[in-house]
Amino acid sequence: MNQMNSIFRLEGVSRQYGDVAALDGINFEASNNEYISLLGPSGSGKTSLLRVIAGFEKPDSGRVWFEGRDITDVPAHERGIGFVFQNFALFPHLTVFENVAFGLRNGIKEVPQDEITSRVFEAIEMVGLAGLEDRGTEQISGGQKQRVALARTLVMQPRLVLLDEPLGALDANLRDRMQTELRAIREKLDVTFLHVTGSETEALAMGDTVAVLDAGKVIQSGNSSEIYDAPASPDVALFLNRFNLFDGVATGTTFRGPFGQVATPVVRKASRDVYAIRYDRVQVFNMGDAIPGPALDARYVASEYLGSSIMYFFEAADGKTVEAEHHLSFGDPQDYKVGQHYVLSWDPAQAIVFGQEGAE
Ligand code: ADP
Ligand code: MG
Repeated sequence: MNQMNSIFRLEGVSRQYGDVAALDGINFEASNNEYISLLGPSGSGKTSLLRVIAGFEKPDSGRVWFEGRDITDVPAHERGIGFVFQNFALFPHLTVFENVAFGLRNGIKEVPQDEITSRVFEAIEMVGLAGLEDRGTEQISGGQKQRVALARTLVMQPRLVLLDEPLGALDANLRDRMQTELRAIREKLDVTFLHVTGSETEALAMGDTVAVLDAGKVIQSGNSSEIYDAPASPDVALFLNRFNLFDGVATGTTFRGPFGQVATPVVRKASRDVYAIRYDRVQVFNMGDAIPGPALDARYVASEYLGSSIMYFFEAADGKTVEAEHHLSFGDPQDYKVGQHYVLSWDPAQAIVFGQEGAE
C-alpha cells in the first residue's frame, strides 16, 4: 500500500482478556479517504479493535499509527478519531441539538457559541435531521437516533470515524437506506469510515476495502470483488456465506468429494481440504442428463426469493444443504419438485479449492 496515502496502521496489535486473545497480533493498514468494512462473526474482536484504535483500550503489545504518528500512548480525546457506538449512547435528557453539541461544549478546545450553533446545524442537516433540533431523544425513531449518534461524531470533524455495527438495530428497509446514506456522507466529507459488521452482505455492499476478522486476526483484506472471487481460506469462504463448501481429499491436481473426482487447476494451501463453489455458479440438471464435470445427486427442498435472485435449497445424500442461486436477469425461475432428485453441477474452473498439499 502507498505509504503516503495511509491513514492508520496497526502493527502487531494484541489485547488479552484473561485467557481470551481478543486481538492476536493484528497487522492492518488503511488508506485515506475510503470506506472500510471489517467483517467478523460475533466474538471475533471487532469491538476490541475499534476500542484500541479509538484509545479507549490500550494494546498489551503492538503499536497504533494514525496520520503518520504513533498514537499508542495518546489519550482518546486527543486523537481526533470519532466513534459511533453500537447502542447509540445518546444522552436521554438532552435534545437532539444538545446531544450533537455536547462534544464541542465539553472538548479540550473552547469553541465560540456561534461556531457551535453553525456546526451543530450543519451536522444535523448532513444526516438528514434538519428541523428536529429541539426534539427529545424519546421523540425520535431508532433510525433517527442512529443519525443523531452519527451527527454527534461528525460535528467534531474527525479524520477517521469508527462505526460499531451501526445498522444492527435497524430494520431491513432502513438498513438499506442508511447504507447508501453512510456512503454518501463519507464521500462528501472526504474522511475514512471504518465500519464493523457481522453481516457479509453489508460488508461487501459498503466497503471499498473489506477486511475479514477471525479470532482476533485479520485473515484477509482487499476490495469486495477480490474477497468474493478469491477468499484466501476456507474460513473466509465460510463467513462470506456465498459458497457451498465440501469436505474431501485434495491432491495437487484433483479433488475427490461427494460430487466425484474432478480436476482442479489450482489448489490453495490451507490447513484442511475444502472445495468451495459459489451459490450462483451451481447449475441444476435433471437426473439422467449427460454431465461432463462434477455431479452431485441432491433432493430439492425449497426456494427463497431474494429480490433480484432466487435461492434454491437442495439436500445432498449426506444431509448437507447445497444452495444454487439463480439471478432473475438470466431468466425466469424454475419449478423444481419438492422431494425430487436432481443433479447439481458447475464449471470446475470456477471452484476454489483449498488443500494441505496446495501451493502457497
Ligand atoms: P465482537 O465485537 O467481534 O463481537 P469483542 O471485541 O467484543 O468481539 O470480543 C472479543 C473477545 O474478547 C470475546 O471473546 C469477548 O468475550 C472478549 N472480551 C471483550 N471485551 C472484554 C472485556 N472487557 N473483558 C473480558 N473479555 C472481553
Ligand atoms: Mg462487538
